[in-house]
Amino acid sequence: MLANLNKFCSLKRDIAQINIDPLQRGGILTPEARAALVEWGDGYSVCDFCAGMLDHITNPPVEEFVHSILPEFLGTDEVRITHGAREGKYAAMHALCEKGDTVVVDGNAHYTTVLAAERAGLKIEYAAASKPPQYALSADAYQQAIERAYEQKGNVSLAVLTYPDGNYGNLPPAREIAEVCHDYSVPLLLNGAYAVGRMPVNARELGADIIVGSGHKSMAASGPVGVLGASEEYARPIFRLSATKKNKEVELLGCTVRGAPLLTLMASFPAVVERVASWPEEVDRARWFSGEMEKMGLLLQGDRPHNHDLMFFLAENLYQISQKAKKGRYFLYRDLKDRGISGIKPGLTRQFKLSTFGLAREELEKVLSAFREIIESYQ
Ligand SMILES: *Cc1c(COP(=O)(O)O)cnc(C)c1O
Repeated sequence: MLANLNKFCSLKRDIAQINIDPLQRGGILTPEARAALVEWGDGYSVCDFCAGMLDHITNPPVEEFVHSILPEFLGTDEVRITHGAREGKYAAMHALCEKGDTVVVDGNAHYTTVLAAERAGLKIEYAAASKPPQYALSADAYQQAIERAYEQKGNVSLAVLTYPDGNYGNLPPAREIAEVCHDYSVPLLLNGAYAVGRMPVNARELGADIIVGSGHKSMAASGPVGVLGASEEYARPIFRLSATKKNKEVELLGCTVRGAPLLTLMASFPAVVERVASWPEEVDRARWFSGEMEKMGLLLQGDRPHNHDLMFFLAENLYQISQKAKKGRYFLYRDLKDRGISGIKPGLTRQFKLSTFGLAREELEKVLSAFREIIESYQ
């Protein structure tokens, strides 16, 4: 006998007024996307007028979006929709690498890069990030990793660069890294999960052969949805057609996103293009915010000056408070929540990341006041 199922019928979401979790900031739907979510919510809603290829559906205008608008936006020859950044990375690795090959990956890589490589049967060689507090990556680190991999592990068939990484929000010198990779004839995949849809990023200009983005992370879309772009040379193997099933691309298992998430991505897109254009103001706000945090004794890690809204802080003072506070290390979560702020993981005090993306100055003032009040209240 199944238990009483009524509790599943009206699930409510408990969210604070301001959510500074980096994971959440770039995926908030625009009103247009929220409407699209309801309009296109039924299962295979996109497929009513499909003639066999998802990316060529003209009603709704998926074809124009995928074959004309996104390639221009990402700076690639070809683009396809995926279920997310990780699915894009896996498709590229699976198509371009042989089992047992090595992928060179930056030391700040997201866990999904590691899992995609593992699933594709690949070895990993890390390009080391520099020591704290910078955690910086360089073209030299890539060169050394490629050399090491060739000496010890065999064929290197792909390099991945996290741009920016999801811990420190560091933007490494992609152009220089791409050049080094190309010196060794290794294609470079740019993981733009935290870039595409937030900031200007053009694969061609950066020298990246392949790029992935995440709709639910940074493109104001209801996931799972992402984008995978590639230059013609690599698009051919990645988007190759099935030998037996007409017009179906093997790495995409024929079709990827077959309903509402794709329509939310499209409906938000005009607003996403606009917000990308105001990226310099986002960076200004992030720098001002981190400056104010540092005045309270917290310490920004990573790039300095910082170039992204994702920021990682060390907070020895908050850690000290947690040693004495009621509820111990959960005090920060509770005290922020009492002030309408969420997004720092329960239990973290000594170090945590946050994002200022899309928050107005007044909202950030509120966040800063909350930190100030909390610190003062324990003195
Ligand atoms: C969030 C994130 C991912 C995963 O994105 P999905 O679209 O959910 O697969 C990959 N890489 C980085 C750097 C991320 O921050």
